[in-house]
Amino acid sequence: MANAAQHSIKQIVILGGGTAGWMTAASLAHYLRHRQCQITLIESCAIGTVGVGEATIPSIVNFNHGLGIDELEFLRATQGSFKLGIQFEDWLEPGSRFFHPFSDYGIDHQTLPFHHYYYALKAHEQALELGDYSLACQLARQGRFAQPRQPPQSPLGDYGYAYHFDAGRYALFLREYAEQRGVRRIDARMHGVTRNAENGFIEALSLDDGQRVQGDLFIDCSGFRALLMQETLKTGFEDWSHWLFADSAVAVQSALPHAEDIVPYTRSIAKDAGWVWHIPLQHRQGNGYVYSSRFCDPQRAWDTLSQCLTHEPCSEPRHLSFKTGRSLKMWEGNCVAIGLSSGFLEPLESTSISLIQTGIAHLLQFFPHQGIDPVRVKEVNRRHRHEMESIRDFILLHYILNQRQHNDMWHAYRNLSLPDTLEHKIELFKSCGHIVQYPPETFETSSWLTMFEGFGIRPRDIDDRASQMPASVLSEQLAGIRQQLRHVAAQADSHASVIAKHCAAPR
Ligand SMILES: Cc1cc2nc3c(=O)[nH]c(=O)nc-3n(C[C@H](O)[C@H](O)[C@H](O)COP(=O)(O)OP(=O)(O)OC[C@H]3O[C@@H](n4cnc5c(N)ncnc54)[C@H](O)[C@@H]3O)c2cc1C
Repeated sequence: MANAAQHSIKQIVILGGGTAGWMTAASLAHYLRHRQCQITLIESCAIGTVGVGEATIPSIVNFNHGLGIDELEFLRATQGSFKLGIQFEDWLEPGSRFFHPFSDYGIDHQTLPFHHYYYALKAHEQALELGDYSLACQLARQGRFAQPRQPPQSPLGDYGYAYHFDAGRYALFLREYAEQRGVRRIDARMHGVTRNAENGFIEALSLDDGQRVQGDLFIDCSGFRALLMQETLKTGFEDWSHWLFADSAVAVQSALPHAEDIVPYTRSIAKDAGWVWHIPLQHRQGNGYVYSSRFCDPQRAWDTLSQCLTHEPCSEPRHLSFKTGRSLKMWEGNCVAIGLSSGFLEPLESTSISLIQTGIAHLLQFFPHQGIDPVRVKEVNRRHRHEMESIRDFILLHYILNQRQHNDMWHAYRNLSLPDTLEHKIELFKSCGHIVQYPPETFETSSWLTMFEGFGIRPRDIDDRASQMPASVLSEQLAGIRQQLRHVAAQADSHASVIAKHCAAPR
């Protein structure tokens, strides 16, 4: 990389004002407030945003907290609700159901993960249910919610939660936050890029209103178009559609007439060519069918989704298509891609917004204050790849373990040749119950355990510390945990009343 890169960053230009653009603008405005940086965000209202992306994972709580955003104010502004996890319906086979909670199970003992004790007892008591040992599961079953106690008084009282929210309102909320902190916004369409002839760095963006916006660092938040990272810099894209077949979605909003309908979890229901989501917000429900166009056409997809709606649609159906995979680079020269421009994994585990957050975190941790340093660029690209691959494996796990019969897509998933990393994880768990992690991973061992258990994968062997314990002792101890969790859950308020009391949005 040429020496031209070695000057400090004074002007940052963000291209795109979707969730990624405004999360990036808000973060840079906040965390770089002591550096004299001018931040400019360019978005085109004529082009608009992708307009979906309403479910999150617990890292969003820390993201907002880091920016000093008041949780209840944020929920009111975005018509938000709390999310304890995802209920998976019909995934193993029609009629099956399990819950993926944002919490651990039980209590580890003698440094041995709880699930070894669970499987030791399950050998004697077949009817045990893993969800009975998770507070988030117990709360979700009863439609209740309570913020975890801070600091947790018992290991059982500590669990994660996330939010559902209106993505458009969240972007507006962050826009206001960022503009108050000096971010300059331009509404215009970008149509040209000037690059340095020597090192290929981006120098300026030309806009259709005649402006030319110069910068030292450019953040590509232009969505699937990836106008800087792919169209301009042509860094290449790794296509994962041979593993994850979903490439299309149809989305629609529907009414939610009763407060009790606002459940504290996302529902994900397997269908012939993909899966349907239901995301409850305060003013409406978001619904969508994510499917593979190899196995379904848009009309059939819409028919499938309409049959799943419990209430009248209150928006026109929107059809979207996407490519699953990752940009080979997240950072190239003086350009960093954040959001859909850096890659996309289908929305099954609501990971895109969390990937925006980690993209921002990597940028801030390795920020090129003194100019672009190739070793930082390399590290950010390494992390991005690692993170995307581990999420890809986790999502793939949901599909390949199915037992859905008489269906081409689900049959194809069962016969898929897997990435080595995933194959190893599954085989090791089957062999001895150990869940291997390649940190940092977005999904912790409890999430992997949920999937193994939900799809009926059991270890052939478990640790001696658990298997040698008398069944009567195990039975007594696990019953104690179950009862304690049930007791804690029963004390919580209903999710609907938590919202009504603390963060009801204007209707
Ligand atoms: C079906 C589906 C469901 C999803 N569900 C979830 C979910 O539940 N949870 C989750 O975390 N994520 C979800 N996602 C992903 C989520 O929608 C995105 O990660 C998120 O919205 C961020 O998008 P973005 O800001 O990168 O792109 P976009 O929202 O597409 O924004 C792109 C921006 O670039 C601007 N732009 C583009 N071209 C130009 C130009 N030439 N000049 C100026 N401006 C331009 C646009 O105006 C816009 O402001 C889902 C995605 C899909 C497809």
